[in-house]
Amino acid sequence: MSKPSINWHERAALLKIDGRPFIGGRRVECLSGEQFDCISPINGKSLGAVARGQGADIDAAVAAARAAFDDGRWSRRPPAARKRVLLKFADLILAAKEELALLETLDMGKPIQYSLSVDVPAAARCIAWYAEAVDKIYDEIAPTGPTALALIQREPMGVIGAIVPWNYPMIMSAWKLGPALAAGNSVVLKPSEKSPLTALRLAELAMEAGLPPGVFNVVPGFGHEAGEALALHMDVDAIGFTGSTRVGRKMLEYAGRSNLKRVYNELGGKSAFLVFPDFDDLQRAAQTVAGSMFFNQGESCNAPSRVLVHEDIADEFAALVAAQVPQYQAGDPLDAGTVMGALVDEGQLRTVLGYIESGLQEGARVLAGAKQSREASGGYFVEPTVFEAQPQMKIAREEIFGPVMSLLRFKDEAQAVAMANDSPYGLQASVWSSHIDRAHRVARALRAGTVHVNQYDEDDMTVPFGGYKQSGNGRDKSLHAFDKYTELKTTWLRIN
Ligand code: NAD
Repeated sequence: MSKPSINWHERAALLKIDGRPFIGGRRVECLSGEQFDCISPINGKSLGAVARGQGADIDAAVAAARAAFDDGRWSRRPPAARKRVLLKFADLILAAKEELALLETLDMGKPIQYSLSVDVPAAARCIAWYAEAVDKIYDEIAPTGPTALALIQREPMGVIGAIVPWNYPMIMSAWKLGPALAAGNSVVLKPSEKSPLTALRLAELAMEAGLPPGVFNVVPGFGHEAGEALALHMDVDAIGFTGSTRVGRKMLEYAGRSNLKRVYNELGGKSAFLVFPDFDDLQRAAQTVAGSMFFNQGESCNAPSRVLVHEDIADEFAALVAAQVPQYQAGDPLDAGTVMGALVDEGQLRTVLGYIESGLQEGARVLAGAKQSREASGGYFVEPTVFEAQPQMKIAREEIFGPVMSLLRFKDEAQAVAMANDSPYGLQASVWSSHIDRAHRVARALRAGTVHVNQYDEDDMTVPFGGYKQSGNGRDKSLHAFDKYTELKTTWLRIN
């Protein structure tokens, strides 16, 4: 018998929000006593009060994390023992999937079907993957010759500050927590003020799984308060930051002004999607670019928002993309069939509408959308939008972080590559060509951390995620992420 469908509105009405920080293994009162309203982008109403953590709360969280690290309650546990706790943590995330999915959807507006089928399982998979990996990684012995022995070992770094954005709150947290905790570090997580709820719940689940107190702490609050205090803290060894390039620059400044902590920045993007006339299935390319662009309301760092199309097929391709758009109309995120939800807050709505207005003013041609929608809901919705634009236009150059795609024409391969690379960003790119030589040639020429060939969004925990240029340094996911949260220690021994 199939499971009765869930009435998410009813569940939402019953939800109790606990917005207190999680420090030293338990919920605590915010030291400033201040709170802010957690607004749901679905209807503009408050979900409840969340603590406005500040410097004193960060100090308490870092002190708890440091004490836990120094006494070895986690950092000196054998990897296999850490693995067991983290696998349990992943299981508990899956067991709480309906609650977590609901919190995520209410908090940041994405469709409930994707919170359930994408965000929760991906967060659990990430934690489990690092748990599974950590007792299978060997250290090194250097080939130094017969009279010496040099051991090269990874050690956990200490206290990691994780500062994450609101677009995939659970997944971005898991990308930091997985490798940092598996390697034996303690973590202080500062979720976005726009989506703090699931991070706080994750901390409770981690405790339930057996993570010792103090190893994983969460302080909600604003970037310029809690975030800045964490990034400036003298007792934090590294910052794993995901967010905008603007704030990424600040992270580097904070490190310079404090203890030169390591800073790993995972930043914005304006990913190019190149369609060559030799590609034999334009319909599939159009379906893929629309699906990837409008997924998560276009609020994805790797959204293929610059679509470069050869002039010979540009009209045909534009029509194919426009024909995809109606299926992505925004709907109520709590309805099981909705594929595009609400933008995260009113500020983001204004930003996206501002970009649409600038596209119109600069003379871009509207192929679809370009309007606000569902205004009567009180929430923040925009129609999926496609422009035919020119390369110098603002909409074609800047990260919009909303459901707005720009189509641009190119004449030949050299121009396509030059246009694709003419961006401060270098997160992802995609090449569509049925010529194997061209596909490889262009993939090599593109300055991006990930290049897809004849597909987009293929994804797996085994591969690194991160960008070239101002899209960041460091990489999330894969075994490479351990490099960010471990120090390399060399131990020399003389052999007489
Ligand atoms: P944001 O930079 O505004 O905020 C990110 C985090 O930093 C939040 O927790 C925020 O509170 C905090 N913050 C803000 N100002 C701060 C300050 N002065 N000091 C310390 N912390 C501060 O970004 P956002 O709007 O939350 O997220 C959108 C951005 O994230 C986009 O640019 C997107 O491309 C990027 N992103 C990148 C990746 C990636 O893997 N490369 C993944 C997801 C999102």
